[in-house]
Amino acid sequence: MTRKDRTEGIYSRREVLDESERKQYYLIQLKELLSYGYRYSEDVKKRFDRAQFNVEKFKQLSDLKHIPILKKKELIFLQSMGPRLGGLLTKDIGELKRIFLSPGPIFDPEDRHDDYWGYTEAFYSIGFRPGDVVQVTFNYHLSPAGLMFEEPLRNLNCAVMPAGPSNVATQLDVMQKLRVSGYVGTPSYLMHLAQKAEEKRLNLRKDLFLEVAFVTGEKFSEKMRSQLEKMFDMVIRQGYGTADVGCIGYECFQKNGLHISNRVYVEICDPDTGIPLKDGEVGEIIVTAFNKTYPLIRLATGDLSFIERAPCTCGRTSPRLGNIVGRVDTTARIKGIFVYPHQVEQILSKYEEIKRWQIEVTNPGGVDELTLCVEASTFKREDELLHTFREKIKLRPTLKVLAPGSLPVNSKPIEDKRIWD
Ligand SMILES: [Zn+2]
Repeated sequence: MTRKDRTEGIYSRREVLDESERKQYYLIQLKELLSYGYRYSEDVKKRFDRAQFNVEKFKQLSDLKHIPILKKKELIFLQSMGPRLGGLLTKDIGELKRIFLSPGPIFDPEDRHDDYWGYTEAFYSIGFRPGDVVQVTFNYHLSPAGLMFEEPLRNLNCAVMPAGPSNVATQLDVMQKLRVSGYVGTPSYLMHLAQKAEEKRLNLRKDLFLEVAFVTGEKFSEKMRSQLEKMFDMVIRQGYGTADVGCIGYECFQKNGLHISNRVYVEICDPDTGIPLKDGEVGEIIVTAFNKTYPLIRLATGDLSFIERAPCTCGRTSPRLGNIVGRVDTTARIKGIFVYPHQVEQILSKYEEIKRWQIEVTNPGGVDELTLCVEASTFKREDELLHTFREKIKLRPTLKVLAPGSLPVNSKPIEDKRIWD
């Protein structure tokens, strides 16, 4: 069977808008959303009034920063505050198509219009094409994932096997018998399937027919990607989104980061102040989806990334998110400087003798102190390491070399032991 061309074509004209068209498009979408939200969502009205934000005065994209960010955690409390999910919805619950429940617990409303979760352009960009037979291994009940990822496949005229997270033997059996060409699920589950298939002495390239995969929901390293792509001889790309807003970004064939979806406006902000940062700087992903049913304006995702605007050879002009480099709750601001675990990881990866590490922050007498604890049997490059650390992170740590096994098993990368009065 000849393989489909999965690299060509663009799904929507909005993916190739030039810079000024895109700005204009964002401005119109946001203006509409803000006025609609203010008019029909009790919660949006309350938030805007409290911040003395006047919708009429929203003239340019940078005006958005005057609206306080909405932390995901707040949704749990807000949704319990009365009808229409505490006034976050602009219509009655009975008018929706579905309501899901995600861990939190947070309700995720789904309205009736086509491509509600907005993943169709993502699936096209990743390489799904009409005629694919696709196995969806995400859960189909309570949480939205299963049905959320079925929607784009229906739009692209693919056939879906709604497997959910059922047992491995069934998954592999179905994959073989239906000659399944597409996989939707987490990368680790795909790896698990690969291992089980090999145990059963299946040849992943000859007995299975996978050509394309959409993976999400977990950290996905390049190492794991190339390993899986080689094992199955397939293309694997990631999507990024949340259960609250749906699609935020997706990869293209070029693996250049995540193209930001045209259904959202994304800002990268200082996690403390909500103030937007410059392109390239790492901060929290703040997302505003153009969703009038459930207008979560400036939702703070808790994920950390940066924006990249250099053109992508795939032809899409949308800005891209670099990798998701971590979570806000694993970072700490020390002496006014954000320290991100991925930065420390980058520095320490050059020292093979270091097995594990942890940063400890204390504040004796109200002054922040930083200790870099590393596990190594012998370590002789202390000066060099401290120098690099100071150069890259702009802080002077005290270095503590510990015997291997000294740090607790599930230790956090940054242990914040500061005491605040
Ligand atoms: Zn691209």
